[in-house]
Amino acid sequence: MSAQNPPKASDWIRTEIQSLSAYHVPPSTGMVKLDAMENPYNWPEDLRRQWAGLLAKTDVNRYPDPSASALKQRLRHAMEIADDMQLILGNGSDELIQIIAMAMAGPERTVMSVEPSFVMYRMIAVFCGMHYVGVPLSEKDFSINLEQMLAAIEQHQPAVIFLAYPNNPTANLFDDDAIEKIIHAAPGLVVIDEAYAPFTDNSYLSKLGQYPNMVVMRTVSKMGLAGLRLGLLAGPAAWLDEFEKIRLPYNINVLTQKSADFALEHHQLFDDQTSRIRQQRVRLLKDLGQFDDFEVYPSDANFILLRCAQAGQAEKIFTGLKQQNILIKMLHGSQPVLNECLRITVGSAEENDQLLNALSSLLG
Ligand SMILES: *Cc1c(COP(=O)(O)O)cnc(C)c1O
Repeated sequence: MSAQNPPKASDWIRTEIQSLSAYHVPPSTGMVKLDAMENPYNWPEDLRRQWAGLLAKTDVNRYPDPSASALKQRLRHAMEIADDMQLILGNGSDELIQIIAMAMAGPERTVMSVEPSFVMYRMIAVFCGMHYVGVPLSEKDFSINLEQMLAAIEQHQPAVIFLAYPNNPTANLFDDDAIEKIIHAAPGLVVIDEAYAPFTDNSYLSKLGQYPNMVVMRTVSKMGLAGLRLGLLAGPAAWLDEFEKIRLPYNINVLTQKSADFALEHHQLFDDQTSRIRQQRVRLLKDLGQFDDFEVYPSDANFILLRCAQAGQAEKIFTGLKQQNILIKMLHGSQPVLNECLRITVGSAEENDQLLNALSSLLG
């Protein structure tokens, strides 16, 4: 033991971890929050009271049900998951991505996705010591470059391919024929990440079981329960029984189990909120389309991607909105395909009014 040479974190923390930066969440207190795909609506007062009453009766001195069986049953029913498919819950779908990666990690193992897509695929691959390969989407419409994707699969033999459907941050659904070819060509698992399922009529849930190497991931975050941290993975037992071994025993806390079960019992509320968000999406796509300063991409999700025509314009809009207390997501600078791009979450009617007014005053 020498006081001159105390153990150094930098000698031990893996270099690829040292070169990462932590996931950054900007401060947003008091702002109109259109940056993180949250549902803008909360619950009516009477429902909040019922919910609080339920939580008051919860025994927090006890561990939660380790298998969360009541909640799983509720989710199965709500999402119409076939009886012969297994289900695993995660502390957000982020944790499910982590479980999948941990189950398959190895120095020669590759995680693959498309670029741009959800940043956690890459980050978790790195956390787990895996290679990450992101195959660029078409610059024109963010569709999958099928030939390039199939060549990358052939070359890298990925353990797992993540496809967000609809994709974040581009808001589009991928071509079903391309997805099917990818599933057939994949030597390992394909995860269809349906985080934005409430905002589209397309889904792979009903196709579970058609392919031995496909699973579907969902979350309750974007439908309006982001604070609970609850994701689910559905698929064949051959995969899920293995993932289940990695899931930490009490990963879904008792308040989340009770609250999500309660919320799903009152799913009509969320269905109504979802339809309001879908209506606002139509309106926002139309109204944003009136501006000459940017191109508005189509959306099957609860957010809209814009690309500004002039260099520096994305930064100007982002900063200008922030000065007016409106927070959106700056994508410019993250990667070349997202040059001059901004991502805006569909808010409530009032929030969208504020956004459009602020844009008008900024851009004239
Ligand atoms: C937001 C998002 C998630 C994360 O969901 P959580 O359940 O909140 O962890 C997963 N995938 C995609 C594509 C997302 O956009």
